[in-house]
Amino acid sequence: MSGLFAGKRVLVFGVANERSIAWGIAEAMQREGAEFIFTYAGEVLERRVRPLAEQIGARALIPCDVTDDEQVSAAFRQVADLWDGFDVLIHAVAFANREDLDGRFVETSRAGFATALDVSAYSLVLLARHSEPFLARRKGSIVTLSYYGAEKVVQNYNVMGVAKAALEACVRYLANDLGPAGVRVNGISAGPVKTLAAAGIRGFKTIFGVVEERAPLRRNVTQEDIAHAALFLCSDLGAGVTGEIMHVDGGYNILGF
Ligand code: NAP
Repeated sequence: MSGLFAGKRVLVFGVANERSIAWGIAEAMQREGAEFIFTYAGEVLERRVRPLAEQIGARALIPCDVTDDEQVSAAFRQVADLWDGFDVLIHAVAFANREDLDGRFVETSRAGFATALDVSAYSLVLLARHSEPFLARRKGSIVTLSYYGAEKVVQNYNVMGVAKAALEACVRYLANDLGPAGVRVNGISAGPVKTLAAAGIRGFKTIFGVVEERAPLRRNVTQEDIAHAALFLCSDLGAGVTGEIMHVDGGYNILGF
């Protein structure tokens, strides 16, 4: 592969540090010639994300907490000042309160449920709506990140599993809405990766051992494995694919008993 993303513009949500899945995807797209605008959620994060954005030669680094409608609108106004359109939206954003990622799902509070669904699923709808005119101009695509806990019960994943199930359904509905404009919407259901978000889920470490022992490929996936799937989905190679959730998990999801 070379120059698969030459001249392509990529808007990135969800880089916290160099371990972030979104960073792996951005690096891979940069190797293929893409240019970037990065967003970050808060001041603490800006300090960590700015050096990465500079390293990759991003056009801009824009604050954007996806739970704040005004910040999202302002972010897209800034994007419009730099780009009349873009080719890829990377959505790699998720959050649930720590107390909701432990113990019994039945204890989830109304507020905790709303927070997890708002940040982790509704944000895709909101960002897709803002992105639609930009993506339509360049027949672009959206990629988001999900996890197996959307489909099956994973201990302690709890409300995040429900949020990921909603996210996967959002991918299908958005793909149907945006498809007539030539815009594709897909998700990657990634195997576990050691990131900040993963560290918030109690017992997540034990999952790595189980995957290594039982997944058909007998290993955990890497940031790069996921990034390569994103390259496929977001480039012309994936031109016929939309509304899809692609598993990149060493085959773990196919196992029964
Ligand atoms: P990560 O590096 O911690 O990235 C999560 C990102 O979400 C962070 O940049 C975080 O910013 C951002 N975020 C949270 N709340 C936000 C808000 N209100 N507004 C804007 N951004 C917000 O972890 P990651 O593992 O790469 O996660 C990326 C995606 O992959 C997530 O959707 C995650 O569920 C998914 N995923 C992860 C795994 C895994 O094992 N790691 C597996 C499958 C799917 P802050 O740090 O400021 O909160």
